[in-house]
Order: sequence, then C-alpha cells, then structure tokens
Amino acid sequence: MSASEPSPGPLTALDLCGGVRADRRDFIRLAAWGGAGLAVGHFGARTLWAQGPSRQPVYAMILVDYNRCTGCRTCEAACAQFNHPVTVDGEEQRGLGNPSLSNIRVHAFNPDADVPVVCVMCRDNPCVAACPVEPDAEGRRALYRDPVLLTVRNDPSRCIACGACAEACRAHRVGAIIPNRETNRPERMCTLCGGDPQCVALCPYGALSYIKGGLDGRHYALPPERIAAELIARWYGPAQGGDVR
Ligand code: SF4
Ligand code: SF4
Ligand code: SF4
Repeated sequence: MSASEPSPGPLTALDLCGGVRADRRDFIRLAAWGGAGLAVGHFGARTLWAQGPSRQPVYAMILVDYNRCTGCRTCEAACAQFNHPVTVDGEEQRGLGNPSLSNIRVHAFNPDADVPVVCVMCRDNPCVAACPVEPDAEGRRALYRDPVLLTVRNDPSRCIACGACAEACRAHRVGAIIPNRETNRPERMCTLCGGDPQCVALCPYGALSYIKGGLDGRHYALPPERIAAELIARWYGPAQGGDVR
C-alpha cells in the first residue's frame, strides 16, 4: 500500500486480541475526552491526546496499525538516530541510525507480515516487579518508571545484571527488553524520545501513533508471533502457516 492510498482502517493488537472490548471503549472515550487530534478511525502516524484534566503523569505509548506497516524499517533508523547520538566537534548530533540499537524492532514473517514491536508501557510492569534490587528511598528498584513520562528506565549503578526483567517481558508480554550482550543490563526500553516520538514522526506510511491515556498493556502486549499468526490468517487465509524470516 502506498502512502497516498486510503487505509482500510486501523488494525492494531486490540483488534487481534479477544476480551479487549472494554479497552477499546476506554480508548475511544479517552481520545474523545482529550480532544483527539484525529478521528479514531484515522489515527495512523499522528498524536492522539487522551489526557485528563489533571497535570498528573499519564501513560503514553506507540500504537501500531498493521494495515499500514510495509516493513520499511524507517522507524528503526529514526529511533537509533535519536536515542544514540554522536558527538562531533563537541556538538551532539543524531547518530548513524544503526537498526540494531533501535528500541522499536520490526519482525518480518512469511507469508509477508511485518510486526513492529516496542515497549507498550504495561501499567502492571512485570519487568519492574521482577527486579530483585531492593527499592531505594524513592521506591525505585534498578528498573523503575520515569516520574514524568512513565517510561521504564534502568539505573546501571544499581543493576546487578541478572536479566530477570528481560525474562519477565519475554515470558509475559512482547519481549521488548533485550539485555546488552556485554553487560547483560536491560536495553531497548522505549524512551518516547522525551515526548516527541521520532518513529511516529518519520514513519512514511502513517503506521504509528502516539497515544496518551487509556490502554491496558496486559491486553495490548501480545508477542509478535501471535500478532503475525492473526494477521496471516486474516490476510492470506487460516490455512497459511507463518515463519519468521
Ligand atoms: S517506519 Fe512505519 S511502515 Fe516502516 S516498518 Fe516502521 S512502522 Fe512499518
Ligand atoms: S537486570 Fe538489572 S534492572 Fe533487570 S531485573 Fe536484574 S537487577 Fe533489575
Ligand atoms: S518513541 Fe522514540 S524511543 Fe520509542 S520506539 Fe519510537 S523512536 Fe524509539
């Protein structure tokens, strides 16, 4: 599908998972409540603000519309460029965009289905709960929620590199956390780019949206293999198998 062709409508993990009707209602209600920038049926590639009237931090995440994703992997380069800058002549500049450093990773399946995976900011954060490091005076383990954006962060000075957080994410959610090959400390947790997600801004096909407000990660955080199986069954027929490439 080209960028100019109309989308058949958003297809997200919410549509692929049973038992999420309450979440979708919540999402629509919150989007409307917050004065959404775009109608719910056309939310690809842009920001949906579903923030309540208070100034308390609210959960935010990147939502994927699988109907639009072409697997071009521009999002991976954009993420790596922003989150891994380089210093040239004393000035910080965007990095080279090595996809292997990206916090969003596009899984490719055969028959053709592309499934971008990124931390979905689960509210019950099994990764944080799995961290065995005793909470400090502020209640933070070595893995903790950022107080402003509520992203998941690691404190390398306290992390014992046990890998429990990555295992919890892999076992119970999307497997977004990847341990560093040398240090075994957790990496690839989405930073939301400080509130200006570059993957959303630069996806050429409008497949990504930045939403704030009403999703429950327990339902949205499906592993990529399950999402791909659902997509392949919808697009190519239930008899088709699926292999990761
Ligand atoms: S940039 Fe957009 S279309 Fe390309 S792989 Fe990422 S989400 Fe899919
Ligand atoms: S690897 Fe570090 S952050 Fe993750 S669970 Fe172990 S101590 Fe906590
Ligand atoms: S919001 Fe930023 S850190 Fe998160 S996946 Fe997108 S580009 Fe990467």
